[in-house]
Amino acid sequence: MSVQAVKTNPILIGLTGGIGSGKTTASNYFQSLGIPVIDSDLIVKRLWKENREMVQQIEKTFGFSIQTELDRKKLAKIIFSDPKQREVLNQIVHPYVFQEVEKEKTFYTDRQKIVIDMPLLIEVGYNKKVDYVLVVHVSEDTQKSRLIQRDHLTEIEATKRIQAQMPLDEKKAYADVVLNNETTICDLHHQIDSFLRGLKDEK
Ligand code: ATP
Repeated sequence: MSVQAVKTNPILIGLTGGIGSGKTTASNYFQSLGIPVIDSDLIVKRLWKENREMVQQIEKTFGFSIQTELDRKKLAKIIFSDPKQREVLNQIVHPYVFQEVEKEKTFYTDRQKIVIDMPLLIEVGYNKKVDYVLVVHVSEDTQKSRLIQRDHLTEIEATKRIQAQMPLDEKKAYADVVLNNETTICDLHHQIDSFLRGLKDEK
């Protein structure tokens, strides 16, 4: 007799926030609790390496071949300084990301919950496909100082990166739960525990 895993419909938890707000710190905690995390940044990295069709589409659209680190920097410069070009790139990349997310979700059909860590969850409309939207929120000052410390940026560079994104206060409006990451990591963990307890109570 074969033993089959019980299939459930896992609760989908979309985890998002701004650059350096603490998404990875939060998703590491979910993982430490045994909850699987689908990481859209990792998916994008993998697609760049493995999906020739996507890369060719980007090369055709932007008009140059993207093979070396220098090519990638050239593209980063274009999309970083021009929001329209950033949107063009996102329109190409995101359908491939969605496909991969769907594929990864099928690995976890026997689980009760899945976290989808997606920095652009709201911008690309994936917030509509999850059961809960969690926004990791910090003040801009904290975001800036953590970014400067982690990535060794100047204040101007950090400000530029923050301002290239949807303001965190705006993202808050889409949240079912705001995880305030202004204080300690331990406090962030407590807020996640409390969210998960709430899910159990809802059952
Ligand atoms: P990115 O969007 O760039 O991937 P992120 O949202 O995943 O960033 P993290 O990498 O989790 O953010 O956090 C940014 C930095 O802030 C990291 O160096 C992390 O260790 C630190 N950090 C996160 N939360 C806290 C906290 N509560 N107190 C102090 N440092 C923190």
